Amino acid sequence: MVCIVNLIIFGPPGAGKGTYSFRLQRLIGITKISTGDIFREEVKKGTELGKKVKPYLDAGQLVPDEIVIEIVKEAIKKASPKGFILDGFPRTVEQAKALEKIAKIDAIINLIVPDEIIIEKMSARRICKNCGEIYNIADIHKVIDGVEYILPPMLPKNDMKCDRCGGELIQRDDDKPEVIKQRLEVYKKQSKPVLDYYRGKVPFIDIHVNRGPEIMVKVIIDKLKEAGLIQE
Ligand code: AMP
Repeated sequence: MVCIVNLIIFGPPGAGKGTYSFRLQRLIGITKISTGDIFREEVKKGTELGKKVKPYLDAGQLVPDEIVIEIVKEAIKKASPKGFILDGFPRTVEQAKALEKIAKIDAIINLIVPDEIIIEKMSARRICKNCGEIYNIADIHKVIDGVEYILPPMLPKNDMKCDRCGGELIQRDDDKPEVIKQRLEVYKKQSKPVLDYYRGKVPFIDIHVNRGPEIMVKVIIDKLKEAGLIQE
């Protein structure tokens, strides 16, 4: 697969941004840059940055723009020459404006998922304590507004231990129901202007997430090919 492509993956928390960008990293070699992962790692290591951002993560609130922008700038410098996929950034118009000065974005993958599905999926998400690999124990099969959602669980092969490293699977503190509601509110209020900011400027690849990742990743890759952003 040939590509030099810089992408943003957008969507409410729990829509699958992390899962899809992990898989796109593996399949097309672009670097996944997840601000949430970077912050969680810093909190885990107990660094100065980790201590600074922990209260925001715990409360489901956004970390101040200047901190996030600096982190992303550094991560983009280290990204693969094939390009990158930003997961969880930008989340404010200020961040989008700062990004424009750092790199050119070729497309936005816009994940669309109803709230009901998000709440069910997020409460069921589990991540590996060591490597951050994502799993999900929800088995969703329902119809909402005429669309059929078949989202199978993403379980590890062995007894709730990570397939990649054998690590213990845990629930993120901010995937608990009280924080999920808060994060959805924050998303709606603060991130809609970001999408509005990009409309007409950068091509949107709208993806209705109504099947599991195996199928959805193929849909995303086909759409990237159709848009001429990656070639076989
Ligand atoms: P995520 O894993 O993307 O849902 O991010 C988890 C948490 O990290 C968020 O609830 C915020 O506290 C913080 N965070 C991640 N990305 C950003 C961002 N672009 N701007 C502000 N805060 C962020």
